[in-house]
Amino acid sequence: MANNLVEIRNLQKSFPLARQTLNPFGPKEQMLAVDNLSFTIKEGETYGLVGESGCGKSTTGRMIVGLEKPSSGSIIYQGKDLGKLNDREFFPLRKDLQMVFQNTLSALNPRQRIGSILEDILKVHGVSDAQERRDQVVEVLEKVGLSEYHYFRYPHELSGGQVQRLGIASSLVIKPKLIICDEPVSALDVSIQAQVLNTLMELQKDLRLSLLFISHDIGVIRYISDRIGVMYLGTLVEEAETDELFKNPLHPYTKGLFASVPDPYIRNEETPEFSGEQPVRTSDFKGCAFCNRCPQAMDKCKEETPEFLEISPGHKVACHLYGQ
Ligand code: SF4
Repeated sequence: MANNLVEIRNLQKSFPLARQTLNPFGPKEQMLAVDNLSFTIKEGETYGLVGESGCGKSTTGRMIVGLEKPSSGSIIYQGKDLGKLNDREFFPLRKDLQMVFQNTLSALNPRQRIGSILEDILKVHGVSDAQERRDQVVEVLEKVGLSEYHYFRYPHELSGGQVQRLGIASSLVIKPKLIICDEPVSALDVSIQAQVLNTLMELQKDLRLSLLFISHDIGVIRYISDRIGVMYLGTLVEEAETDELFKNPLHPYTKGLFASVPDPYIRNEETPEFSGEQPVRTSDFKGCAFCNRCPQAMDKCKEETPEFLEISPGHKVACHLYGQ
């Protein structure tokens, strides 16, 4: 069995509510973007994190790569708690933990040629020999399905799919252990999505990379993931291996998500879709997070927060309908 690469334990990230920032003397209410979140990413696996927009998926990814500091909880990598490291201590680990964003183009300097952009990343990480940098950049361009020709091009000369390939190349060039892919294909046409996903899957296998793949798209998550965590309002409500989750979804939110997909291989006609919107999770929150939208809610769901229990090997769910 593969070892754990990253362990996330009881992670929490809070932000001041907008009404507090407008009135700094008002009550100190916090919005919990991520709350009591625990999961592990194993070596060489693709872990899919799925849920509606605003459920805390991207904030989780940003905390793992050090773009946000956790409010509490821990992110353990190589025996160190990443959230407690200062910038100097984090720097040597940063090359292992990379991120690909949805809109790669906006993060690139439009006046810089692609070869120079990628070489700058290598310079920051101590590759001082110019020929070695050039060789590594050409090699990584070829790995992601671009070529030496693109070394001299500018980012705006690339198509949407090629830009996302460049995003993958810029995270891959320093040989990371984990790449966090935050909605990397959601802005692309379906046929281009498939090409970029296939490239990612080949690279993951060849280089034995771990991927944390974040998406609201159930079909994409199913295609690429080995295991899936379903996230709702800042925390996991269900986790299982991909085949198991699609054969036997347990949580009413997971079932509702599948019911909302116009894909006959995923959609279960018998499951009612849920309605309404995610509420804001605040520090005085209690009960089940999904209570106000759940078609099976009971009185106890308003008062008691369900535990995240293992119902069968590797299949966990947080719902009072199971394991009591
Ligand atoms: Fe629905 Fe209750 Fe289960 Fe929450 S705990 S998902 S409200 S049945």
